[in-house]
Amino acid sequence: MCRSEFRPRRRSERGEPAKIAPGVVTGKDYQALVSACKAGGYALPAVNATSTHTVNAVMEAAAENNSDIIVQFSNSGAQFFAGKGLSDGAKAKVLGAVAAAQHIHYLAGHYGICVVLHTDHANKKLIPWVEGMLDEGEKYYEQHGRPLYSSHMLDLSAEPIDENLSECARLLTRMAKMDMSIEIELGVTGGEEDGVGGEFDDSADNSHLYTQPEDVLRAYEMLTPIGHFSVAASFGNVHGVYKPGNVKLRPEILKNSQDLVEEKHGTGKNPLHLVFHGGSGSEKQKIAQAIEFGVMKMNIDTDTQFAFAKPVGQFVEENAKAFKFQIDPDDGTPFKRFYDPRKWLREAERGMVDRLTEACADLGSAGRSIAG
Ligand SMILES: [Zn+2]
Repeated sequence: MCRSEFRPRRRSERGEPAKIAPGVVTGKDYQALVSACKAGGYALPAVNATSTHTVNAVMEAAAENNSDIIVQFSNSGAQFFAGKGLSDGAKAKVLGAVAAAQHIHYLAGHYGICVVLHTDHANKKLIPWVEGMLDEGEKYYEQHGRPLYSSHMLDLSAEPIDENLSECARLLTRMAKMDMSIEIELGVTGGEEDGVGGEFDDSADNSHLYTQPEDVLRAYEMLTPIGHFSVAASFGNVHGVYKPGNVKLRPEILKNSQDLVEEKHGTGKNPLHLVFHGGSGSEKQKIAQAIEFGVMKMNIDTDTQFAFAKPVGQFVEENAKAFKFQIDPDDGTPFKRFYDPRKWLREAERGMVDRLTEACADLGSAGRSIAG
């Protein structure tokens, strides 16, 4: 099937009942969305955001493509959202995550699509960040009867597997009480994401970087009784964009984990909800294969950062004088309409929207929103 030829249509046009009210989805609604992705053979773009501009661009792209979407924040993305001027960085990471979530809770419904609110890699040092967000999340849950975030990610892939799983179980126990989900990482995603992540050296023996089915089975057995979870699996994926040929994706590795859990527990096909990290710069065919093996979320950051920056560069280049003088020194023309941040930031937002339109087509999520 050529996904790019899929014409976005509303569920109602296809005679399917609308399922979920538009806006931030959590708990059972989030689980229903994950099930819809798996059953429909598509995945959602999970886009790292750092500001209201990037958040709004993600929601705009989702609305334009009639696609549900995942907005996520890394620890430093959340800190940036709060403002780099705040001197207590650790506190700002929590404040920014809360402020960003509230912005999205308030606006998402107006875009007419479902938005999953997620956070990105939290390694051992960042557990206090997750716990800080949960403190705030519990207050929010008490007031609103729903969690602030749909899911948090815990990445303890650099720790021994016993420690990784027991910490995930401990935090999921706390999160499940608020109908939250957790994303865990088994195996190490290469490259670095905002200071968190493993080494990437393609010349080395990278077998230890691939997710081991036995570890996934242990995670499944330990976490399933506690709550809903997804697994960031490593199959040669790396964060960032590298010279073509340097990254060798092996999506078939995902199948081994799915098959082992299915066989041991008599589940249906693809029982695990898998997450594809380092989606930027990936070959379209490998993305389609990964979805076939149960990937329902693909993280994208590097490509959308570039898509946000590129049109600004072009705009400044084309209107260079307006970024040096308020008034044209030659003929006295005011340049306000060029340097007004709304002008060039809008270019940036549209660049990001266009890149996400491509992502929605690649992942098959265009036209598939279950909001209604
Ligand atoms: Zn990642």
